[in-house]
Amino acid sequence: METIQQEFNNIDLNDSLGTSQPLVQSGGRRKKPARAHHTLQPTISDTQISNQFYQQQNVVPPTIPQQSPVDAQPVSQHTIDDTNNYVLAEQRLLDQEKYNSTTFDTSRNSILPMKTTQFYSVDTGSCDPRIMSLTMYNIPESETLRNCTKLPIGLNLQPFAPTLQLNTNKVKTSDSEPSADLFEEKDETQIQTHFNEVSKDVGIIRCPRCRAYNNHNFIFSPDNQYMTCNLCKTQSKNPILNTMSLNSVMNMPGMRMINMNGGCTDMEAPKEYWHVADQESKPLHYVFMIDISSFANMNKSSLAAIEATQNAIEVISNKQPNCKVAILGFDRNLHFFKLSADLQKAKEFIVGDLYGDTRNKGNESGSVFIPIYQGLFVKPGESMHVIQDCLQQLKDHAMNNTLMHLPDICFGPAVEAAMMMLKEHANGGKIMTSLNTLPVYARGSLQLRKDDAFQKNLKFGDQDYYRALGNKLLREACSIDIFVTTSAFVDLCNIGYLCLNTGGEVHYYPHFQSSKDDLKLESDYIKVVSSTIGYQCALKIRTSNGLRVDSYYDQTSMFERSDPQFPVITNRSNVSCLLKLDGTIKESDVHIQAAILYTDLNGQRRIRVINTSAAVTNNVSEVYKFVDQENVADIIIKGTCVSLRYQATDYETIRKNIDNKMSEIMVQYKTTTNNHKLNNMAVIPQSLKFLPTLLLSFEKSLLMQQAKQSTRGNDRVNAYFSFLTLPLNELMLKVYPQIIPMHVGLLDEDLEFYDQGMNLLNFKSSSSLKVNNSLKSLENGGMYLIFNGSEVWVSYNQNTNPLLLKDLLDYDMSNMPLMLSSGIFPITDSEINKKARNLLMFWCKKINITSGNNGYLKCEVLYPYQQSTTNNVLMSVDQYNNIMRYQIMFEDPSVEKIPTLDQYMNVLNGDVNKKIDKKEYVSVGSVQTKAEEATFAQKYMHF
Ligand SMILES: [Zn+2]
Repeated sequence: METIQQEFNNIDLNDSLGTSQPLVQSGGRRKKPARAHHTLQPTISDTQISNQFYQQQNVVPPTIPQQSPVDAQPVSQHTIDDTNNYVLAEQRLLDQEKYNSTTFDTSRNSILPMKTTQFYSVDTGSCDPRIMSLTMYNIPESETLRNCTKLPIGLNLQPFAPTLQLNTNKVKTSDSEPSADLFEEKDETQIQTHFNEVSKDVGIIRCPRCRAYNNHNFIFSPDNQYMTCNLCKTQSKNPILNTMSLNSVMNMPGMRMINMNGGCTDMEAPKEYWHVADQESKPLHYVFMIDISSFANMNKSSLAAIEATQNAIEVISNKQPNCKVAILGFDRNLHFFKLSADLQKAKEFIVGDLYGDTRNKGNESGSVFIPIYQGLFVKPGESMHVIQDCLQQLKDHAMNNTLMHLPDICFGPAVEAAMMMLKEHANGGKIMTSLNTLPVYARGSLQLRKDDAFQKNLKFGDQDYYRALGNKLLREACSIDIFVTTSAFVDLCNIGYLCLNTGGEVHYYPHFQSSKDDLKLESDYIKVVSSTIGYQCALKIRTSNGLRVDSYYDQTSMFERSDPQFPVITNRSNVSCLLKLDGTIKESDVHIQAAILYTDLNGQRRIRVINTSAAVTNNVSEVYKFVDQENVADIIIKGTCVSLRYQATDYETIRKNIDNKMSEIMVQYKTTTNNHKLNNMAVIPQSLKFLPTLLLSFEKSLLMQQAKQSTRGNDRVNAYFSFLTLPLNELMLKVYPQIIPMHVGLLDEDLEFYDQGMNLLNFKSSSSLKVNNSLKSLENGGMYLIFNGSEVWVSYNQNTNPLLLKDLLDYDMSNMPLMLSSGIFPITDSEINKKARNLLMFWCKKINITSGNNGYLKCEVLYPYQQSTTNNVLMSVDQYNNIMRYQIMFEDPSVEKIPTLDQYMNVLNGDVNKKIDKKEYVSVGSVQTKAEEATFAQKYMHF
């Protein structure tokens, strides 16, 4: 109890009021291992914190949380599930309900909220799990014990993930009101990325042995002379004392060696950490590339890209005033623009004749040159009138000069030019480009591939030119985002390699139609710009002795440096990695620290240090209690993605592999925890009961679709990118979308916000709001909103109550088919419409879409129209079925005869019993682990 109270003082909600001093620990007393004592029940601190928070918000404090169904089943009791209890849809609602009234304590709560849950956290020395999360919080002490579980030790790191933290020291600009400081609700467009600034006086202290940064768990001797690193346990002299006398340190006001509270800390980096020696970094530079070839003008995607560029530049002008932008149009020629503020109109420079020598597969040095230096990059705040004129010129060209339109694009040379511009002006930066056609001109020209449905392998960058260009972009710290506005084949494997290799994203708009997709494109441009945190970024993960990083699931780690790099880092950038045990861990806990060195938008070099920890156990059943199944699913999905690059068409094997992994996990659980006797029952740890659902859904996704008809790869390659790069909150929704019915009876509180910050949503009637992702759980005449992490489908049929359609969508069934112009959800003054919009806003916040454009989520009507309609905006029966089958209804059997969830559980159970009969399992204590006949794909899931 005393510890709780004492620790609790560190959580200082009123810090900005100056009423209480942060706790200074004067002695070098060993703190309790952060996770030595797990809390299964809501702790006292939970209630205290949430009460403080609600008082600040002038909301009636909630009563001490009732034993909600989630709490009622303590995880320590390994109950045997009856087979009906695999309702992921319901668990998501219950979990949200639980965290509406509970705050997550980052170092004491070891069972994480689900990735789909919105929650408030208090940083008590470990980072928020949205920033870094582990697959397990009780780590087996040795590899032998780990092998008994067949579970991976891995982590996902999203260094700048927006969080809802109650106790971070934001960089304070003025004496603002504390309550306003706590929630950044004043500026709705501000994304909630929290910074926990460490005072400059503290200085950067690092362990001389393992180079770990000072953190919450560094131990200083009482006189501050010595320190002990929590990662390598080495004691060393405090390096600060080398440069100044002991007395001056002791007398320095505010000098607190141990004051590194917070699982996540931010600091300015001194000169030694500059990206280029002796060269100060510049604010971030952007290059906007616009495809103005005749095809792009025909489908009006060039106009949409110009509009999107304009909006993005306005956001930069307002929010990132020090950043500079350049605009580069391209068709068969390159169109540079001089944008100096003293000009009235933008001055265009056209560079043509780019065909050059392409005999050497693009490895020859190009003829690209940049015709101007001054006025190429400008601050939008100063040159807005010139930028507007430039975009107007491009617009006029796209709309009018039909005769001047050229069909080919010189995409390769355009990217080369953008990279040269960034190199000359800023040693790196961000490129955003639209692309509407396969490049067949100049260097980097690509051919239509043989139409064999898709390539045998997802070999990214199998064209020398694109591989070389992608690698060069990475070296020059340039990141590229490509917005593909055609469903025609563009060879995403090669084009997309540029994004994959530089931490950029592919944004894909198949069947681009300006009335349907323009707003989405604009919103995505704004999202990319406003989510940008910095550039020239390098990452390093350090772990306690006995644990090491085995591999990163990240393209950039396959180069000169084994640690991932992010040429440009956003609040969505994330990386998963697999950890391995070496020998036996003697300590009671392990620590993991990630350090990110980057240049922020203003050109300041900075360091973010992220810490987390886990307990160590020698008891196998303790391991199961604190496993996070969504993180386990993430590691298995990432491993599968890597293996797909080598055997992309062999789905059968890959599925078997996943199933085998799942049944192994179940066998090990059953045999190691003495559940042998329950011979014919499916036994699965409580903490892993949704893992089969997640894996089965993944097996049925677009990525694993055994397409007989040609898609020429775009859809599949795009799905591949999603699974490999999406942040976990979006990934889990992509794997298993969420369906919420709007036609059921709702309580008044349902789908209303729980808190004033409008982040937490009530799902009181969880049993009627839960809908499984299977056709049989849909009601005929029902009305559903379906969210897959990026867009929303509005689903109904001809039997849906017309009054509901009128109230909810302002739609009269007798009229024309329902169309949502630009994908905007209609606003009516009915109660149900308000609840639906609450739900959409909740989803927006969940995936961190800024509410600058009213929290825009694209909504699409999911309603099968007969093919006979001539309007191609409407969805055909085929399209409808495809979306249902490959993107939503993952519990149903698939065309490829992948079973339903119930059947799948039976299959797994059969496998488990077979394996047990054949004694194919590892028992605790057996030193010898049976050598696995590792198939090719298993190599990439090597845990
Ligand atoms: Zn160390």
